[in-house]
Amino acid sequence: MTNVYLHGRISDRILAGHPWVYNNEVGKIEGDVQPGKIVSVWTAKKKFVGKGYINPQSQILVRILTRDKNEEINEAFFFGRIESAWKYRIKNGYAENCRLVFGEADYLPALIIDKFNDYFVVQTLSAGIDAWKPAIVAALENLFKPQGIYERNDVPVRELEGLPQRKGFLSHPFDTRIVINENGLRFGIDIENGQKTGYFLDQHDNRRRIRHIVRDADVLGAFCYTGSFEIHAASYGAKKVTGIDISETAIDQAKKNAEANGLANICDFKTANAFDVLKQWSREGMFFDVVMLDPPAFTKSRDTIDQAIKGYKEINLRGIKLLRKGGFLVTSSCSNLVSPELFLDIIDDAAKDARRKLRQVTFQTQAPDHPIIHGIESTNYLKFLVAELE
Ligand code: SAH
Repeated sequence: MTNVYLHGRISDRILAGHPWVYNNEVGKIEGDVQPGKIVSVWTAKKKFVGKGYINPQSQILVRILTRDKNEEINEAFFFGRIESAWKYRIKNGYAENCRLVFGEADYLPALIIDKFNDYFVVQTLSAGIDAWKPAIVAALENLFKPQGIYERNDVPVRELEGLPQRKGFLSHPFDTRIVINENGLRFGIDIENGQKTGYFLDQHDNRRRIRHIVRDADVLGAFCYTGSFEIHAASYGAKKVTGIDISETAIDQAKKNAEANGLANICDFKTANAFDVLKQWSREGMFFDVVMLDPPAFTKSRDTIDQAIKGYKEINLRGIKLLRKGGFLVTSSCSNLVSPELFLDIIDDAAKDARRKLRQVTFQTQAPDHPIIHGIESTNYLKFLVAELE
């Protein structure tokens, strides 16, 4: 077994349970450091810290899998972790669709598994977890007897680990266009070519939160992707729903989804840049009762956080300007670099610029199948605010 010794004092972060050990926290390494290999981590004074996988090509040198000295990292270990992740989801009321494994928050660093009923989409985002793909697939086969398993590793972050981007079947081939049921509605998902794993499960509980405010309302949904929020709004009794997204394939799917739910007469989906269209509609004097905004992260790096702040402020300002008096803003941010406090400040700023008073209805995070571990900031990423605008 390779041994990795931290230099000097162990960081509070690692002590508190954060699984990442950075390059610059390590003093001495004894043994082989082949990417993905299981190693033991010790303090400088030779106290056991944990076992995890190493990758000298990554700034995150080791990701700890267990703090138990006697726990073996083998196929049974991965089966056990995935099984307990599933038990947690069942306990929290998930049956058909859920994020089955949310990386660090399920003590399986860099592993994402989304469950779409009988289909599973897997992302292995580090060399260490990638090496255990066969064990992960075996665990899924064993626990679920799936209709299909697909790998969506076409993610740039893998390159930081020296891994190629790739996608493809991890089970026998199957038709990757599937249909799921969410809150009694039907949504088509393109597992192979959709964004991320094909569908944004993190908002599935928040989508129910709009039920009352959209009744009889004229609703705008910007950054609508395949129309999930918008079709929920239509089914909850909205008078009219307009959805816009820059991706034409997403809009095509949104139209099909509206049709499949018998709501095409209420929904109008258009391909457009939200920044341009919201500005134009504001100039034309258009108004809505509810404006929903769910933009992408805008930045992935702390160095360019200002860009993200600017983007969120701008789009929310434009959204607020389109709201009738007493209308509701439903606004999200999925960037973990923007803290909940910062996000609320940005929205307050936007409201102030629009000379509107804002009253918070609810402020939530992602659904419980994406649990949060305090001290691991990346697990606390989604902000979902509903506010009334005077
Ligand atoms: N609300 C969606 C998820 C949105 S993800 C849901 O619940 O499923 C963010 C979306 O923003 C993506 O679909 C992306 O295509 C879209 N997008 C990115 N930049 C955009 C822009 N400038 N204008 C409109 N849409 C944009």
